[in-house]
Amino acid sequence: MNAIPQIQLHPGTSWQDELKQLVSDSNELFELLELDRSYLPAAKQAEKLFPLRLTRSYLSRIKKGDINDPLLKQVLPLAEENEAQANYVDDPLQERAFNPLPGLVHKYHNRVLLITTSSCAINCRYCFRRNFAYSENRLGQSQWQAILDYLKDHDEVDEVIFSGGEPLLLTNEQIQQRLEQLAAIPQLHRVRFHSRLPIVLPSRIDQNFCATLNSTRLQCLVVVHCNHKQEIDAYVAAAFSALSRAGITCLNQAVLLRGVNDSAKSQIELNHSLFKNKVLPYYLHVLDKVRGGAHFDIELSDARIIYEKMRARLPGYLLPKLVKDEPGQTAKTPL
Ligand SMILES: *Cc1c(COP(=O)(O)O)cnc(C)c1O
Ligand code: SF4
Repeated sequence: MNAIPQIQLHPGTSWQDELKQLVSDSNELFELLELDRSYLPAAKQAEKLFPLRLTRSYLSRIKKGDINDPLLKQVLPLAEENEAQANYVDDPLQERAFNPLPGLVHKYHNRVLLITTSSCAINCRYCFRRNFAYSENRLGQSQWQAILDYLKDHDEVDEVIFSGGEPLLLTNEQIQQRLEQLAAIPQLHRVRFHSRLPIVLPSRIDQNFCATLNSTRLQCLVVVHCNHKQEIDAYVAAAFSALSRAGITCLNQAVLLRGVNDSAKSQIELNHSLFKNKVLPYYLHVLDKVRGGAHFDIELSDARIIYEKMRARLPGYLLPKLVKDEPGQTAKTPL
């Protein structure tokens, strides 16, 4: 493999060091970003439901003094979260009904999703797992063994998705070990990592990570989660470059969010920026109706209008699939 140039945010600090310095105090957020303090009391209230959390790398891409910044919107606790929201529930995808073992969600025929860790490096306010029972889904050694046994008994499963929590919070050694155990199960062919770290903590994509993904017979893909072109700075571009030089397929899933990226222009720019970095669009999700997320929601008719404009102006390969996740379906529902 070629040597991969790494750009580090703070040369000499590791991604683990950066993780120890997350911003999780709204006073500090307001101070660093010079935000209007009249929003602070509500932020403190909403934080009690779902903590504030972001990396300093992500923070560096937010415009100071702008309460409407599209990146800030995704992490800022707002008064609206504290209001009762009819039809917005804790488990909008009814994952609990498809949770045969702790840490395992088996909803679709041939692919299973693993809740690999119990936290993320960023707390996205619209996250459909913001109220997820992570404490009941911890993946210790015995749970992991149970999952391997389950997979051995389920011939139909050929793909395993490491999801979140944030799977790339596992160390390279842990990932390597899990891949080795999965590779020993003959019917498995693919492993997918659903991760937001290439966006919010790009230094995580180190050479060892790329080498680890290339050291197994299993075909590995990374599906990132990027909602706005402003999220892609030089460090994120370097992370994408590392992945593509290592030959790892990279896809993106975004969520259509009111006040963040709810225009055809924003979506078109996002997909062009991703493609410049060799990332292909995969899904554009409409919001899952999670309690606390109602202020991000968009009428389906408006989502369709945005999508029609995207379809008219994007080449087919840069048009993500507009989908909805519905409980009880055999796959995501195209809209
Ligand atoms: C989205 C999802 C998958 C993966 O579905 P793809 O359409 O293959 O990306 C698998 N399991 C669950 C529970 C999911 O929500
Ligand atoms: S990174 Fe993904 S799983 Fe984590 S809080 Fe954001 S949307 Fe949720």
